[in-house]
Amino acid sequence: MSDGDWRAYNFSAGPSTIADEVLKTARDELLDYRGLGASIMELSHRGPDFMEVATRCEANLRRLMQIPDDYAVIFMQGGATLQASAVAANLIGSHQSADYIDTGHWSQKAIRLGADQIPVNVVASAAGSDYRSIPDPQTYQASPQSAYLHITTNETIHGLQYHRIPKGLGVPLVADMSSDIVSAPIEIQDYGLIYAGAQKNIGPAGITLVVVRRDLLQREVDSRWPAIFRYKEQLAADSMLNTPPTLSWYLCGLTIENLLSKGGLPCIAALNQRKATLLYDFIDQSAFFSNFVELGSRSLMNVPFDLADPARDQAFLEMAKASGMLGLKGHKARGGMRASLYNAMPIAGVEALVELMAEFERNS
Ligand SMILES: *Cc1c(COP(=O)(O)O)cnc(C)c1O
Repeated sequence: MSDGDWRAYNFSAGPSTIADEVLKTARDELLDYRGLGASIMELSHRGPDFMEVATRCEANLRRLMQIPDDYAVIFMQGGATLQASAVAANLIGSHQSADYIDTGHWSQKAIRLGADQIPVNVVASAAGSDYRSIPDPQTYQASPQSAYLHITTNETIHGLQYHRIPKGLGVPLVADMSSDIVSAPIEIQDYGLIYAGAQKNIGPAGITLVVVRRDLLQREVDSRWPAIFRYKEQLAADSMLNTPPTLSWYLCGLTIENLLSKGGLPCIAALNQRKATLLYDFIDQSAFFSNFVELGSRSLMNVPFDLADPARDQAFLEMAKASGMLGLKGHKARGGMRASLYNAMPIAGVEALVELMAEFERNS
């Protein structure tokens, strides 16, 4: 940071790095939010000051993602994990089942949690490629009577990402977008419902975004579900059926403003492409580091990679830490390394990582 505050390059998969400008604004406003003499998290969520934060957050999100009026925006708690259950409970209506695509860890969790509520079909799986490629979206066939088809647009652990989404399915497309939301422009109209935990690309943990086509809220929901799980009730209460996570909401608002000030999603996407290309190009020419995902399915957000000699993993992580780079240890489900390159990771961070990897390889 320019004022001398030291910051590591944080490659953590989630919770993850937040833009310096956002944290500085939050710091500056922490004791005295805009002259009120109190921080935003000490104020009533129903008072005019917080209501203004919430309203501005939604308006800016709509601008950033170009969300049309026939889609509702809801902020909930419980993370993407709660959404995996809530989607099933809210959207099954009079349908018999729902379809899912298995592309890795997070889609499998959505399948398990969905199956606790409703009958589910797995209509395509990346298991056949050993989770090295996304099954071709053009081949997906929704089941008759299906309530929706669920995909995970970016598999945070396996490092797979959809670069083309399924279209013309005849059923609403539901997407867990937790780890690539607002990383590039999308066509909202291609989706029936999008959900995302905030802690990867839109702020800190504690708040979850749901964007849903309004007509889907007409589906009947079992009244045994508490109101707090039901989209229609949440929407009617402006996402304030109970006390919302006001600090997280405020920080999401600052992050969204920050993305708009940087030119919006087309500019963000171009930067994300440059960052990922830099890292993948290095890995692909390296004899020591490797990535196992097929080219067309590689994630721009999470880059898992392996050392030729796993016995040196620890040495690599220690050298990274000594050079001011955090969060590179891979998820325990697959081991190795993982660099997460979310929006808030500057290109200088990726350049520093590539330099470190080159030096480590020379000394191996
Ligand atoms: C992190 C993550 C989740 C889990 O989110 P929680 O907020 O912890 O429930 C789900 N799906 C994807 C794709 C993720 O990256």
